[in-house]
Amino acid sequence: MTSPADLARPDLDDARQAYADLKAAGMSLDLTRGKPSSAQLDLAAALLTEPLTDHRAADGTDTRNYGGLTGLKELREIFAPVLQVPVDQLIAFGNSSLELMYETVAQALLTVMPGAAHRWADEERVVFLAPVPGYDRHFALCEKLGVELVTVPMTADGPDMDVVEQLVAGDPAIKGIWCVPKYSNPDGAIYSDEVSRRLATMSTAAPDFRIFWDNAYAVHHLTDTEHEIADVLALATEAGHADRVFVFGSTSKITLAGAGVSFLGASQANVAWWLAVAGKRSIGPDKTNHLRHARFLRDADGVKAHMRKHREIIEPKFAAVEDVLSRNFADTPGVSWSQPRGGYFVTLTVPDGTATEIVRLAKEAGIALTPAGSTHPYGEDPEDRTIRLAPTFPVLDEVQRAMEGVAVCVKLALVQR
Ligand code: PMP
Repeated sequence: MTSPADLARPDLDDARQAYADLKAAGMSLDLTRGKPSSAQLDLAAALLTEPLTDHRAADGTDTRNYGGLTGLKELREIFAPVLQVPVDQLIAFGNSSLELMYETVAQALLTVMPGAAHRWADEERVVFLAPVPGYDRHFALCEKLGVELVTVPMTADGPDMDVVEQLVAGDPAIKGIWCVPKYSNPDGAIYSDEVSRRLATMSTAAPDFRIFWDNAYAVHHLTDTEHEIADVLALATEAGHADRVFVFGSTSKITLAGAGVSFLGASQANVAWWLAVAGKRSIGPDKTNHLRHARFLRDADGVKAHMRKHREIIEPKFAAVEDVLSRNFADTPGVSWSQPRGGYFVTLTVPDGTATEIVRLAKEAGIALTPAGSTHPYGEDPEDRTIRLAPTFPVLDEVQRAMEGVAVCVKLALVQR
């Protein structure tokens, strides 16, 4: 019901009218998930259209047959420098790095990892640190496997290391930390060398503490600067903590999101442990896909050249998000957003207590946004202020229209407070 006070508020009337117009437009747009668009997937069309008539790998392996648990060497050679892992410590496996992360946590629960006194399942509590905002699937994986999550604030340089160091030094139940070190999901942060060094060298109460270094966006640049991050595995090894790091990556957003190749890199002891358990559930990965990828990408420069084509497609979409937000909210207190230099996401920060309402308003107007809270463990953003925007999947015109709609929703939520 309109109260007398509301009648004296033309800003509220305008915001309501704009929202009514938005709803009347009957949109059906989706900015929820970080998926490549069809145009991006088309860049890798040759993977599917060029027949693999010669199935032999460089070492003579017939890739059609069983075996080769570590994955095809020529593909690992391409990704070793990309993921900063020595080639003999890098495994190429299935089509999903998330699967490798799940498998690694699950196997740490079920079998004794290098440096561990027990299986994690035999520990009273297993806790992972969750820098927030972070990737919802990391958190969901832990929630599913009974791993507790403790939040740590993110900074522009990575997790707040004063907090991390204090927590891991004091509590042996803290067994791991999730890190997306480059163009982080969702805030685009790039870990500074100092943060990486502190992670690699810090004292941990748990002897079997692990960094889950999910370098999902290693080559996914949106600017001319191809940002580099520190070699965390080398730093940890130099500091005497070789077993501390698991590096993950995949070609999901390089070639095909559903039919790419995933990678796991770690110390020799970790790799041996992982292969011993993985070898019980698989005789080997899909090496024909590895070979297709090696031939298609050729080398690390081939990966770079391919990623420039992705950038051409998605950079305008990120520019559209920036354009709408800066036009509408440059001077709005409490509204800010990330300006990612790579990766797949923009984090929109809104005044405390308004994110859920904005996402609800957008949904009613036919614009799907990732649920508020999904950037935090257990789906709870205590300040209710973080919204993850994923502009890569829709075509440019849809991104523009969706973002204009989001701006209308933000304005209405703000004046309604
Ligand atoms: N890690 C991060 C940080 C991601 O953003 C995503 C996809 N959104 C994944 C992993 C999923 O990777 P994959 O497709 O290799 O399972």
